[in-house]
Amino acid sequence: EASYVSESNRMSVELYEKACKVMPGGVTANIKYFEPHPIMMEKGTGSKLYDVDGNEYIDYLLCYGALIHGHGNEYVMNAVFDQLKQSGTPIFGTPHVLEINMAEKLIELYDGIEMVRYTNSGLEATLLAVRSAMAYTGKHKIAKFEGHYHGGSNQFLVSVNPDVSQSGSAKSPNSIPESIGIPDFYVENTVVLPFNDLGATEDRLRKHADEIAAVILEPVQGGFIPADIEFMKGLRKITEELGILLIFDEVKTGFRVALGGAQQIYGIKPDLTALGKVLGGGFPVGAVGGKKEIMMISAPNGGRDILTAGNSNNNKKEVLFHSGTYNGHPTVLAAGLATIEILEQNGTMGKLIEKTNRLRNGLEHVYHQYGYDMQTIGMGTIFNILLTSDPIKNYRDMDKANMDLRKVIDQKLLALGLYTKPLNRYSMSTAHTEEDINRTIELHEKALKMIRGK
Ligand code: PMP
Repeated sequence: EASYVSESNRMSVELYEKACKVMPGGVTANIKYFEPHPIMMEKGTGSKLYDVDGNEYIDYLLCYGALIHGHGNEYVMNAVFDQLKQSGTPIFGTPHVLEINMAEKLIELYDGIEMVRYTNSGLEATLLAVRSAMAYTGKHKIAKFEGHYHGGSNQFLVSVNPDVSQSGSAKSPNSIPESIGIPDFYVENTVVLPFNDLGATEDRLRKHADEIAAVILEPVQGGFIPADIEFMKGLRKITEELGILLIFDEVKTGFRVALGGAQQIYGIKPDLTALGKVLGGGFPVGAVGGKKEIMMISAPNGGRDILTAGNSNNNKKEVLFHSGTYNGHPTVLAAGLATIEILEQNGTMGKLIEKTNRLRNGLEHVYHQYGYDMQTIGMGTIFNILLTSDPIKNYRDMDKANMDLRKVIDQKLLALGLYTKPLNRYSMSTAHTEEDINRTIELHEKALKMIRGK
């Protein structure tokens, strides 16, 4: 195996070696590492990234989907500059009007959201959702699906990417810690469920109903494996019956499968929703929204109406703790509001999805021409390339796809000027042009030819 992405990545390699001396593995998040070495980026404009050696890439990583308008969108950038100028400070450390404006927008767009709290990352949002669920129900376990990612905290780092030979039967998967350093307590209190298998999910939930506070799921696993509609309807029904809250983790699907997220597509109202990524327009963000009755447990005024009631007699032990120095950051919310404004312009979302589908069809055509079993699966503006023609419904089905070959193709694509982190999903942006789409299909064809020529 070559130890360079290509001859033209010398500066990247030099810097990466330097980085390795000061950061473990040379990266600030393990996910940023890949073989043979990560590429150091310097600039981004529109659909393109430019690395430190001056190579240009069409970018489909888009910061794991966050940059739905690509790099440096003028409207979003100006909203940030204007906000900084107008407020004269990056942050007040107090309530401010953009928090209300964004909350109103989220309530308008998301069926399951009646009230909102902000955080600084998707992980903090899922954590807050789960703490809220535990406080509200008085129960102490969560249930999650095998292969689903909700951020890097102890209780969610269970069976995200487990070794199937260690994880028991498909219908009742074992809880497998995803990392060293995770106390057994978290593993034992995280019940793992099989995605898209309603019968087995129902059995497990019934068995632990007295202990499970919430089921958390990615309605579209990894942004590309959709829940079946009947599965989703069944899950909503059974959780309601058992007094278990349903949390949609829409950090990835929010504003990407539809403006109103997966809950809009499925027509299902979760009790709580976690958002992130696109919501911050490229800045660090998260939010939790949900039913008023649940959200109000974190109200420090005990839900008192200031204009009609007297002093709060609220017992603070009855209030859910939620805090964060940077929550509701004005610069971030300005970027997020501008991002959503563009998406709301007539036809924008539809065009973005059409563009995604054109790319998917074009790619499928090329791979099939070259005789590969290949499918793209996904929803809205996110998809993945899987080298198999078998149906993919859950984590274990992914074993059917040829990941080794996919990795080789992705490494060739990097050398050719197409950026996805190897094995990662593709996200689309409004900045991608018809020319980008055609070139992407050509580059895939080139990569396949290179592999065949070997
Ligand atoms: N949930 C999902 C579905 C995600 O995709 C991610 C991030 N990839 C997270 C939660 C965590 O978000 P963050 O990285 O902002 O903490």
